[in-house]
Amino acid sequence: MSEKFRTKLITAGRKDRYTQGGVSPVIQRASSLLFPTLKDKAFRGKNAKNKEFIYGRRGGLTQFAFQDAMTELENSAGCALYPSGVAAITTPILAFIKSGDNILVPGNVYEPVRSFCDTILTRMNVSTTYYDPSIGSDISALIQPETTIVYMESPGSITMEVQDVPAIVKAVKGVNPNIVTMIDNTYAAGVLFRPLDHGVDISMQSGTKYVTGHSDILLGMAMSNEKHWHQLFEYSYLMGQTVDPDTAYMALRGLRTILIRLDYHHDAGLKVANWLKSRSEVDKVFHPMLDDCKGSDIFKRDFSGANGLFSFVLKEHLTPERAAEFIENFDHFAMAYSWGGYESLMLMNQPEELEKFRHEGGVDFNGSLFRIHIGLEDVDDLIADLEKGFDRLGSSTSKPSTQGESKSHETSL
Ligand SMILES: *Cc1c(COP(=O)(O)O)cnc(C)c1O
Repeated sequence: MSEKFRTKLITAGRKDRYTQGGVSPVIQRASSLLFPTLKDKAFRGKNAKNKEFIYGRRGGLTQFAFQDAMTELENSAGCALYPSGVAAITTPILAFIKSGDNILVPGNVYEPVRSFCDTILTRMNVSTTYYDPSIGSDISALIQPETTIVYMESPGSITMEVQDVPAIVKAVKGVNPNIVTMIDNTYAAGVLFRPLDHGVDISMQSGTKYVTGHSDILLGMAMSNEKHWHQLFEYSYLMGQTVDPDTAYMALRGLRTILIRLDYHHDAGLKVANWLKSRSEVDKVFHPMLDDCKGSDIFKRDFSGANGLFSFVLKEHLTPERAAEFIENFDHFAMAYSWGGYESLMLMNQPEELEKFRHEGGVDFNGSLFRIHIGLEDVDDLIADLEKGFDRLGSSTSKPSTQGESKSHETSL
């Protein structure tokens, strides 16, 4: 992480017009701006693109401050805001796709995006081709004349495969430079990996995670290069996408401290991942810095660090009783969706629940999978908590450990 980026993070988006003399921007709660004269209305209308306040749905001073910061940090032409990460993904796709088109999507994609493709895009007569996330430059063989968007997510959800984004972008543009390349950059929080520097056209993320960082905000952002900015922003505006000033304020507030939080998540996450790797109960640890994770070499090449999110797989396929005994009794790991807040979380998936998301070239496992987020607690307390969890499994009399036997199809949900 260069000093320059760290420094930039502190003042990006700070302008006197937004802060009115303060350190942080004002919270401008306004749907309507009162125009004193016809001339003023005409002037503002002409300059709406230059962040002249005109009407609330286009954003006001608080949103502009956060948008300017994100624009600068991701080296983009602009940042569009959405009420959730999912909206920040589906709206840009809709802004660039039409009936008859094809989209390439990695097989391990975040589940709601897969559902969006399989329902709404299918209904629009858009076909989705799911590809092996480790495909690299071979992606060129999948491109059809109808392919309009190549979508990426790296590391991918749950099994965390890291994509060779520079190789994919080069291959795609080599076949057809008009194909729009998009990436879900939520893992990197726009900080650990900057996709536009690698030739990606549109970088999208859920601001719900590390940017806001406190598990109390829903938000999404899409950053684009110059070529696609106008269409991305205007079409998102036409689809009514907007964010309120309080949310934008909280996002910018969180952004200022993101690097120091990520530094801790990186160190603590890696320490816990290595500890899990050393346990005899554990089959695999899908942490992008460790070898079990496909593409860990690419991760070390392209990312400036890891965050606190990863998965581990037990050798045992836990019975519902043993799973509950393990996961419901931690002191520091609560069960919840999402991640990127200051707190540690854990959720379980049985392999048969993940069947739909496993794909050609994907990793194979038969044991129970746990997705874990390492928060800002003392890491030794977290490891002690996990150790007690393994003790609970060991002392259980209900069933001995099965050492990786596949029983995945015996359990009904
Ligand atoms: C959480 C998440 C999203 C969706 O974000 P929301 O803000 O919850 O809508 C998208 N992609 C990834 C990888 C995520 O983890």
